Amino acid sequence: MDDLEPILEAIAQQGFREMGVSAHWEVSEVAAVPDMVGVVHLVLTRHGRPATSTPAFTGTELGDENALLAFVEQLQDAVLEEEGGAALPVCPGHPHPQVPSIESRTLVWRCPEEARRR
Ligand SMILES: [Zn+2]
Repeated sequence: MDDLEPILEAIAQQGFREMGVSAHWEVSEVAAVPDMVGVVHLVLTRHGRPATSTPAFTGTELGDENALLAFVEQLQDAVLEEEGGAALPVCPGHPHPQVPSIESRTLVWRCPEEARRR
């Protein structure tokens, strides 16, 4: 857990940047969930105020791509819920947000229509 916390915080901050909300979203706490392995409790602030907290599945191994993807999806869900229907990250020309995916070990954001075709 001690090792995982800064890594999850860095991933969350990268997620906020890529969603375009890093100016006002921050991780205030990554807390272990008692008796649960592979899940953390993520406390998020928006404009410096507690916004939401969400359990986030992280998997038990660093480098687990499905766990990373699940973590970023949960982060995006938490942001979308608080942003009043804004589509983040913006999908150019479309009303929906882009969705995260992992390709060649890199987190990328794609149009969900394009992601479905892959
Ligand atoms: Zn799109």
